[in-house]
Amino acid sequence: MSKTLLNKNNNNKFSELTAAEAKSMNAYCEDYKAFLDKAKTEREFAHEAGKYLEDNGFKPLESKDKLKPGDRVYTINRGKGVLAAVIGARPITEGVTIVGAHIDSPRLDLKPNPLYEDGHFAFFKTHYYGGIKKYQWTTVPLALHGVATLEDGTQIKISVGEKDGDPTFMVTDLLIHFAKDQMQKKLIEAIPGESLNIILGNAEYDGKDDEGEEIKEKVKYNILKLLSDKYDICEEDFISAEIEAVPAYKAKDLGLDRSMVAAYGHDDRVCSYGALRAVADLNRPTHTAVCLLVDKEEIGSVGNTGMRSRYFENTLAKIIDKREDGYSDLKLRETMSNSVCISADVCAAFDPGWPEAAEKHNIPVINGGLGVMKYSGSGGKSGASDAGAELMAKLRKIFNEGGIKWQAGELGKVDGGGGGTIAGFVANLDIEVVDVGVPLLSMHSPYESAGKLDIYMAYKGYKAFFDRKD
Ligand code: MN
Ligand code: MN
Repeated sequence: MSKTLLNKNNNNKFSELTAAEAKSMNAYCEDYKAFLDKAKTEREFAHEAGKYLEDNGFKPLESKDKLKPGDRVYTINRGKGVLAAVIGARPITEGVTIVGAHIDSPRLDLKPNPLYEDGHFAFFKTHYYGGIKKYQWTTVPLALHGVATLEDGTQIKISVGEKDGDPTFMVTDLLIHFAKDQMQKKLIEAIPGESLNIILGNAEYDGKDDEGEEIKEKVKYNILKLLSDKYDICEEDFISAEIEAVPAYKAKDLGLDRSMVAAYGHDDRVCSYGALRAVADLNRPTHTAVCLLVDKEEIGSVGNTGMRSRYFENTLAKIIDKREDGYSDLKLRETMSNSVCISADVCAAFDPGWPEAAEKHNIPVINGGLGVMKYSGSGGKSGASDAGAELMAKLRKIFNEGGIKWQAGELGKVDGGGGGTIAGFVANLDIEVVDVGVPLLSMHSPYESAGKLDIYMAYKGYKAFFDRKD
């Protein structure tokens, strides 16, 4: 039963924390910031998550022939996704408990033929990934992260712009003095996608090319020479590369009172990290716990590393086979039908700078706790999976009994816009699913903000959900 007649959930709860809780919260947020600085791309997140899981007793799924309660296993999906499971006491066909989040974030991806010279500068051409306000990505320090895979399969890791002493990269913008025409344009037109070119250099290569010919584009050639010297790659190698330009900022406490964290990529690493920590802290859950970290959410959950892929079903089938002495399609279908999932993704928080975008009774607040979103979507709930009242009731019980601070809301005003998560694709598998995540300010910008209480409650809330007994 609810304790009071009035629902007072959508309020700041920072002062409600005990000294011990505040201490745990701060320690958790220090770990989170350090992890964010190491994991700015989906590949880096998957890699770091793999290490974290190994350190916490998880073994590769393929290394186990049989699975028994308490066993800890994981798989990495093509270097860009993670599934970690702790086997529960009950038969797996009674359903698994899933916390699913995404580890990709908006950024600038290099095009297949990225390198060119213009006006005595060398540049990388980019194609932005995910929904961004393009003007936010000019004149901010960028770092380059990614991989180049050579024809023989060798993978070369690239990371420039993060370490002290590293050079930085950026997209220029027109100086205000000459911007009379630009300033009259709509925000969506003022910075065209084709102008998001990353500046790489200005110095010429002095000499002939590697075939002894005169060089026409000496600045471009100089960059190729530097890349060749450092990484042993050539221009064609970009075609089999995935290189992302991401903000070079480190995650930092926000505000004099340090009550928030500003960082690139809270969406959705704030939930992914919480899910990872929560699954690793489980001992012997009643139901098998599955932490599912996927890629490509920001572009529609497409591709074989996104939530629409069969990867989840295929991996679950392998787990069933090892846990239940053999696999059948019916067992897989039964398991999914009986499963419940938190789609762990960020939501929009009330921003006093833009009150007109919010409906004040239904927008989560920073440090008000985990945002429980019955549905997402836009204009008439279009595209939402809309969790059932029965699941919402279960979740309230788990969170209230577990001392989890939470609030409920939706994404901004009814006709104001909206968005989606992986929830709809999970629901398509006949799984109960609800969106629960951390409220953010400035979502999808190069520097997003989240409240420390909410960051910590993501971990606590997902852990309580994994520990469900019903
Ligand atoms: Mn997200
Ligand atoms: Mn997003």
